[in-house]
Amino acid sequence: MQELFSVRDKVVHVSGGSRGIGLAIARAFHEAGARVVVSARNRDTLAATGLEYEVCDIRDSGQIRRCVERILERHGRIDVLFNVAGINYRHAAETYPEEKLDELLAINLRGNYLMAQACGRAMIAEGRGKIINVASLHTHFSLAGMAPYGATKGAIAAMTRALAVEWARHNIQVNAIAPGFIRTDLNRMLWEQEAIRQWVVERVPAGRVGAPEDVIGVALFLASAASDYMTGQVLYVDGGLTAGQTWPLTVPR
Ligand code: NAP
Repeated sequence: MQELFSVRDKVVHVSGGSRGIGLAIARAFHEAGARVVVSARNRDTLAATGLEYEVCDIRDSGQIRRCVERILERHGRIDVLFNVAGINYRHAAETYPEEKLDELLAINLRGNYLMAQACGRAMIAEGRGKIINVASLHTHFSLAGMAPYGATKGAIAAMTRALAVEWARHNIQVNAIAPGFIRTDLNRMLWEQEAIRQWVVERVPAGRVGAPEDVIGVALFLASAASDYMTGQVLYVDGGLTAGQTWPLTVPR
């Protein structure tokens, strides 16, 4: 049974692995004996992880190509890609700044696609692999002020299914994790507002905001042999938020 969930000696690339959800996954896999390489833009943040790293801005296809080549030079293969890098800007839909829209698309969609493509090519050559994209609550429903972000996260689910279908014959499984409200740098300003924190806690059936570590179990499942017959799926890790709501109805016990 332990073998089924083992990631020992697997070569795992975590794009967007310097902070937040990506870093929690990278640390857990390192502890589990995987050969982990994290990548992101900021070298200092990467170096502070203490993990093997590559500087790579996924807006730049040349950087993606070089990053993947260097991992292949050192480790010979890439068994698992966690495609975690992502950003968010919050503005009203009718005045959403065009340059922020372009940046969101360049990172959350185009960059994630190109990273999956580059790692996918190496996996096709190996005849196996696992790609785990990161979707969102916004894949399932909307919150005001984030129309372009939601559009990119809907696209991540579509991309996950499309790559899963196309690469199943190469023994590559492509799935996505859709985190709920997880406390990271991406949304730090939300948790500093008590009204927002309270709003979230009241609506999440689990009754709390998630931590990056809450995502590790599903990450391990999707990266290991335990999920070999599962592909093209989006798994929500959201404390029950997309399952439904509790409400102030009093019912007999
Ligand atoms: P975070 O703490 O801000 O971390 C984002 C990571 O992505 C960092 O490592 C960052 O490093 C990297 N990154 C950003 N732009 C990049 C680029 N152009 N090229 C390469 N790396 C880049 O965010 P997080 O909350 O962990 O979010 C991670 C993923 O989960 C995102 O896709 C996000 O949409 C998704 N998500 C988060 C939540 C949540 O509640 N936190 C919920 C649903 C989905 P650098 O800035 O140094 O590049």
